[in-house]
Amino acid sequence: MGRTSSFPQRVLIIGSGIGGLSTGIILAKHGCEVTVLEKNNYPGGLMRSYRRNGIDCSVGVHYLGSLDKGQILHSFFDYLGVTDVIPVSRMGNEGVIDRYIFDSPDTHPPSFDMPTGIDSYEDNLRRSFPEDEAAITPILASVRRAATQLHGLEFLRSGDSDFSLLDQTRPLGEILTDHQCSPGLRSVLAIPACWLGVPAEDCPVYYHNMALASYVSSSWRLECSGSNMAEAFAGRLRELGGRIITGAEVSKIEVKSRVIKGVQLSTKERLTADTVIGAIHPKVILGMLSPGDVKPSYYQRISGLTDSHGIFSVHALVEKNRHAELSYNIFKVDTDSHGNVPDLRYYQIRRCNSEKHNLLSILTSGKEYLWQPWQDTISGQRGRAYVDLKEKRATDLIAEANTLLGDLGNIEIVDIYTPLTMRDWVNSPGGSAYGVLRSASQIMATALLSRTAVRGLYLSGQSVLAPGMIGTIMGSFNTVKHILGVEEFRALVDI
Ligand SMILES: Cc1cc2nc3c(=O)[nH]c(=O)nc-3n(C[C@H](O)[C@H](O)[C@H](O)COP(=O)(O)OP(=O)(O)OC[C@H]3O[C@@H](n4cnc5c(N)ncnc54)[C@H](O)[C@@H]3O)c2cc1C
Repeated sequence: MGRTSSFPQRVLIIGSGIGGLSTGIILAKHGCEVTVLEKNNYPGGLMRSYRRNGIDCSVGVHYLGSLDKGQILHSFFDYLGVTDVIPVSRMGNEGVIDRYIFDSPDTHPPSFDMPTGIDSYEDNLRRSFPEDEAAITPILASVRRAATQLHGLEFLRSGDSDFSLLDQTRPLGEILTDHQCSPGLRSVLAIPACWLGVPAEDCPVYYHNMALASYVSSSWRLECSGSNMAEAFAGRLRELGGRIITGAEVSKIEVKSRVIKGVQLSTKERLTADTVIGAIHPKVILGMLSPGDVKPSYYQRISGLTDSHGIFSVHALVEKNRHAELSYNIFKVDTDSHGNVPDLRYYQIRRCNSEKHNLLSILTSGKEYLWQPWQDTISGQRGRAYVDLKEKRATDLIAEANTLLGDLGNIEIVDIYTPLTMRDWVNSPGGSAYGVLRSASQIMATALLSRTAVRGLYLSGQSVLAPGMIGTIMGSFNTVKHILGVEEFRALVDI
């Protein structure tokens, strides 16, 4: 098929996370000359794990949803050409993918298990919340619809807007109130919204349903490290002729008369391109533009966006004879009397590259006090008070894990990271974990984020459509759709 004159020739992508690499692979598959610029020394962003004392610690991939044949992530991996080089294992073989643990005996059951399959999930809901019989039917019907739309890749076939499903923007909280859900059911249904970093009260129901449908359809763990996954994506891009330049921090985007010209690196080196894609946070891209490159209204819209919260995490070694690997995830859920979920802790115990130990990973939201006094400091230079504070919090989290999981014996902390770590590692404003908050309150301001006010400058990455591996890759396809135009996209991208 002949190329239209607007078909991108020379494409620069800023950032080599799953967003940058998947956008690069799609474009390289269709003959574009793609160069990915990454500030760190290795590609992969949050998808990549890091190594401390010989132990691989994951950051942004704890489990993956929908990797069964015919499901959305499987279709994406096939299209991107990485299915065979990312080994995974199925979760839920013992009937549980996620176990939610509550400690509000007046309003909640002690625990709730998320199994594989929407039917089994619905059965568990009905067993745990018999008083919610009437509410469960319509709520689950809309999750089933979301699953069909998701696995049918409807968003790819939709027209010019982000995707046709965005009419389902009512906040989940409002819908649950309308159905007079019990606090217990409300808390269980709030958790998929937490996976996106959005409180259920303000989470557009489509995002909730998409997140729930993606994990309940099937859940998987990596049988390799996040670094291997990152290398699989990077290797595929190189195989298609793409280039990845690491240690290349973009400091400026060059624009003339609202048309893209290229980028400048922090070394002052200039690279020209007819298309530049910022696969990083939109506010960081805004900071790379000069005054006058975009209209004040665009500047105000992007700079005024609220971001998702940061994450605090501990990785620690537990002797294998004290605790076996857990085949499922555990969420310790804080609730209020209405069933809202102000915070939760996520636990995973997995085998790791230590013969005698399993690795306990705990994640929770990053609190403000770990952020404010040290915001102008850099890693390694935050002083004793910061180290003490994060060690204290890590110790408290481990003490809670001991109560929850049984006596874990001698625990050896491998690493602790805070929102500041994430800010400095991947350049996320405020250490935000999931980028721009996909809340109902800012649904208008977050629409069509793939486009910018500069011709030839586009955005991809987790902020443009939704976070997570699935949401971010969906965003990559959407960005390519905007670049190529709907007609050419439909003709070329045969997924
Ligand atoms: C703690 C945590 C746990 C998660 N767990 C899961 C999970 O279990 N399953 C799941 O599906 N999703 C999970 N997610 C979400 C998922 O990891 C993210 O949505 C996804 O990795 C985001 O990819 P990205 O490409 O948008 O951004 P990133 O991975 O942040 O990539 C951006 C890249 O751009 C680079 N960069 C930034 N600024 C510049 C610059 N100026 N010049 C050059 N390069 C630059 C950064 O170094 C980085 O490599 C998790 C996220 C977090 C934070």
